[in-house]
Amino acid sequence: MEIDAENIIGTRIGILGAGKSGLAAARLLLKKGADVFLSDYKTSAELEKECRELSQSIVTGQAQKFTLFDYELGGHLDKILLSQDLLVISPGIGFDNPIVIKALEKSIPVVGELEVASWFCRNPVIAITGTNGKTTVTMMLDKIFNVSGKPACIAGNIGTAFGEIVEDLKSEATVILEVSSYQLETIAHFHPKTAVILNITPDHLHRHKNMDEYTKCKLRIGENQTKDDVLILNRNDTLLTNADRLSSIPGNALRQWFNNRGTIRSGAGIKKDTIFLFVNGKELKIMGCSDISVPGAHNIDNALAAATAAHFSGISPDYIRKGLRSFKGLEHRLENAGIANGITFINDSKATNIDAMIAALRSFAKPVILIAGGEDKGTDLSVAEQYLKDKVKLLILLGEAAERMANAWGDIVYKNEIAGSLKAAVHTAFKKARTGDTVLLSPGCASFDMFKSFEERGNVFKEIVRGLG
Ligand code: ADP
Repeated sequence: MEIDAENIIGTRIGILGAGKSGLAAARLLLKKGADVFLSDYKTSAELEKECRELSQSIVTGQAQKFTLFDYELGGHLDKILLSQDLLVISPGIGFDNPIVIKALEKSIPVVGELEVASWFCRNPVIAITGTNGKTTVTMMLDKIFNVSGKPACIAGNIGTAFGEIVEDLKSEATVILEVSSYQLETIAHFHPKTAVILNITPDHLHRHKNMDEYTKCKLRIGENQTKDDVLILNRNDTLLTNADRLSSIPGNALRQWFNNRGTIRSGAGIKKDTIFLFVNGKELKIMGCSDISVPGAHNIDNALAAATAAHFSGISPDYIRKGLRSFKGLEHRLENAGIANGITFINDSKATNIDAMIAALRSFAKPVILIAGGEDKGTDLSVAEQYLKDKVKLLILLGEAAERMANAWGDIVYKNEIAGSLKAAVHTAFKKARTGDTVLLSPGCASFDMFKSFEERGNVFKEIVRGLG
């Protein structure tokens, strides 16, 4: 049986993983009249409160009277699979999970929270994916919608689950959704009016096995789009242009491209250092590239993508310009962390893969002192060689990946060393830097070997920098 908004009442739904999105799915589905069984390996000490609130929501009548809610904590037993009609899995759970394998063997459909929330959404959705730049483009669009006065609501991978907001949307609001490959892996009918794929470069390969699988996941963002929808793609991304050439991009959306190296037939591009939209043979001037206040060619890409998506939401070039102008960057993304003794420290802790690190290096005119390393994702390091050669005067490595990076880049960067901690790395950089130098933390790695998250890593970096006086 195909399950959707129409036949949700009384449906038995198992939810695997009670993180933000699992809990949002549980709340939404209970409210809509489904029976929910929630399962998580976290202990009752960690989740009892949330589970009690969910039970309470039935008693206080938010949900249908006949709705049932049950849960298990501290591990997943086969109970999650007993007579379920549907399994909703959290983005952290892959298709190699034993419960998911069993569910599929029993022909229980498996989807994610993004899919479930989309069943109850009548508003237009702009969905943004890509290896890097999703949050930036989501926030650029948020600014553009704000200045234009058009209501919008941001959600998805950015922190607020789609399921948390879908019930409270104003009828005329646009939903701006940041969407990860993990979320796209578990869609079925998810259908954004506008979809954006910013770039596809190596990341998350432990989960997706290889680039082919990862690319396929990203491309799924457009699979349910029709000719009345828009798919915005990066003209300079090899995987995207190849997929287009090979006709392997699913869906029937109108394709628009952005090109930060020149003009384009249909989409957004650059002419004389100015951003233009090229629509129906017309050129709509947006703004000079130097008016984008966040550094780097990658942020021109982001602005081009955001401008195109905003245009297809009916926003005029004036508001697109004002919105992009008002975007001043985000924490942990090429963020100025302070100046000490004339040395500038930049926090790019969110650079959790090599391509983001390269984007950071390309943003600086002069060579920098680079602090890189962290949890090793095992991706190819040779792609960064040229940038290390041209843009790094001293390389300081830390964490699990330090040794592999030293082996790969040691002969390229004249000076490099391995530090035992982030504090030691910053202090070494400070000692060796001269006035006017830039010290860049752009790890090119995940943070989990030494920190809870990239946010914690960035915050610790900023605290150490503050301590330098
Ligand atoms: P995401 O949400 O996809 O992780 P963010 O906007 O949070 O993307 O940026 C993550 C990292 O990638 C930051 O280090 C940022 O400087 C870098 N970055 C942002 N946009 C791009 C882009 N278009 N191409 C390459 N790197 C980018």
